[in-house]
Amino acid sequence: MNEMLRTKPLPKRIAATACPHDCPSTCALEVEVLDERTIGRVRGARDNAYTSGVICAKVARYAERIHHPDRLMKPLIRTGAKGSGTFAPISWDDALDLVAEKFLQAEARHGSESVWPYQYAGTMGLVMRDGIHRLRHAKRYSGFHSTICVNPAWTGFVAGTGRLAGPDPREMAKSDCVVIWGTNAVNTQVNVMTHAARARKERGAKIVAVDVYMNGTMEQADLAVLLRPGTDGAFACAVMHCLFRDGKADRDFLTQYTDVPLELEQHLRSRDPQWASAITGCPVEIIEQFAALVGNTPRTYFRLGYGFSRSRNGAANMHAASCIAAVTGAWRHEGGGAFHNNGDIYHWNKTLIEGLDMRDPAIRMLDQSRIGAILCGEADALFGGPPVTAMLIQNTNPVTVAPDQTRVKQGFAREDLFVCVHEQFMTETAQAADLVLPATMFMEHDDVYQGGGHQYILAGPKLIDPPGECRSNHDVIVGLAKRLGVQHRGFDMTPRELIDETLQASGWGTVDNLERERWIDCQPDFERAHYTTGFAWPDGKFRFKPDWPRVPFRSPGLSGPVEGLPQLPDHWTVIEEADQQHPFRLATSPARNFLNTSFNETPTSIGREQRPSVMIHPDDAAALSISEGARVVLGNTRGRVHLHAKLFDGVRRGVLIAESIWPNSAHEDGRGINTLTGADPIAPYGGAAVHDNRVWIRPAA
Ligand code: SF4
Repeated sequence: MNEMLRTKPLPKRIAATACPHDCPSTCALEVEVLDERTIGRVRGARDNAYTSGVICAKVARYAERIHHPDRLMKPLIRTGAKGSGTFAPISWDDALDLVAEKFLQAEARHGSESVWPYQYAGTMGLVMRDGIHRLRHAKRYSGFHSTICVNPAWTGFVAGTGRLAGPDPREMAKSDCVVIWGTNAVNTQVNVMTHAARARKERGAKIVAVDVYMNGTMEQADLAVLLRPGTDGAFACAVMHCLFRDGKADRDFLTQYTDVPLELEQHLRSRDPQWASAITGCPVEIIEQFAALVGNTPRTYFRLGYGFSRSRNGAANMHAASCIAAVTGAWRHEGGGAFHNNGDIYHWNKTLIEGLDMRDPAIRMLDQSRIGAILCGEADALFGGPPVTAMLIQNTNPVTVAPDQTRVKQGFAREDLFVCVHEQFMTETAQAADLVLPATMFMEHDDVYQGGGHQYILAGPKLIDPPGECRSNHDVIVGLAKRLGVQHRGFDMTPRELIDETLQASGWGTVDNLERERWIDCQPDFERAHYTTGFAWPDGKFRFKPDWPRVPFRSPGLSGPVEGLPQLPDHWTVIEEADQQHPFRLATSPARNFLNTSFNETPTSIGREQRPSVMIHPDDAAALSISEGARVVLGNTRGRVHLHAKLFDGVRRGVLIAESIWPNSAHEDGRGINTLTGADPIAPYGGAAVHDNRVWIRPAA
């Protein structure tokens, strides 16, 4: 009887893995494996000290995504016009033969740099995300300057500390004040909230949020600081002005650990709260309140996110925010200091995975964010070299995600461009391709992960068999290498062998050990994490005055208006300020139920997000005769986009927020939100200013 009543099969086993998505939390997961091809619920590992049993809802219901009926199952070849989305099945062998043939043709016509393998962070697994570089280097294909996500943020943080690392993220729970700045953790990295909430519950800590709209994180904060987009530098300067003015600067710390404290103090005298209020829209009292709180709370943990760096002045904003902890000396204390990402603690040796031993530094590095200009043949984007005429795309969906969408679509429509997309779903980039290959999801292959927002390396073993004819990224790279006649040890190894040798070469033991333990805690000791023996510069001093063109960063060269970067923390006026024709500033913040364009195919996520919409202050809406739910058009020099209005007094007047990323097709006319975003390079090392747009808005006709 019980058997008959049971509606769901019992799990055969609970298996450990890690979340592969582009999210700093990189949660340790426990997966119900129902049989060789099926999973049930997904939970957070309780005994992982960072995940602490909590994961986001979209991954908890991962069965909906991995067993989605729309998953790609077979290789497909285009049969209709370019972009028509008309395809027919083709065998794997014929498909890979065709890619190899097209790549060799492109190379014969225009040289090897006319082939551009293009990937990003649809999976964060080191083998499946980065293995494509091995093929690139082996064949001397065009390089990939990865810019779309982290560059302004990482550069801005490293500009001060000298190193991309900070206090143990679990120390948030031991803090007396957690400042969550420029990241809507409720939507994008739930674990930050777990640790901050623990500090509030157990220690009476305050939670402070700094952001451009009253999002879920701001709602949960004790103090919410609402800024106009791109003005965080001004806010940080005014806070530091108050700290010096009120005797809350830690003079001993400043003397021992920072470069030019007196010059900074002098510079900030004119950056008072009135000055900052006029720029940020934030009332003077809130600036004073924030400064008093962090000035009187030595144990303040600044958790600095990515959002506020996705602006033309993003690197300067990140640097300015990171300076506050150096003024108060918060770094001295457990539960204090500034943290952005732990990328520098892992000391990976990726030679084998990426084929770095074959890399020719003379090969051009094409900017990922400028894919529109590159495919449209703009000479400066191509560094005067040959056109791109063949591409393999893995783990990313540039037709929807990349800025300057109109140019991106124009580029993909070129008849002389061959595009192979290896994907899990028929994304809008896949629809624009000539050949589409079905890809595995993370539970269907072996990989290894590192946390950006924490300090673990995590195992990600294969748990179930892939559906249909899906193959892993590694399989595709190996299959192409064979056909293209290139040799490298990495092409002869399994993913597990690659992981094992990479772990050992990096000093992290073996894959057997990692799988047994599930994760490795790589947290450096307190002295190193808090820089108590000096920041990561030869003189050990935190830089208030960065040498911007020489900030150590993995970048092939400088880009954007580097010479204009402020010498000391400041409001850098390089942003797309509103003007008479474009009176609004638009930010394209992440929606809770999507992760970039991942999950925008699952019915639950779509149902919860409802439809593409834009938040507008009710007074602005009234002035423009826009009512709740009305169809509206947003526009600027780059194009126009249709959305529905959401009247919301949690945005400042003159600011619009469009939570994203919806498929382009969800918008009227098929023009997605990135039609409005620009691809001009950000100083000093590139980036995409997706939250830095001036636009107009009006009721749709
Ligand atoms: S919070 Fe981030 S890392 Fe954790 S399960 Fe969700 S998407 Fe994955």
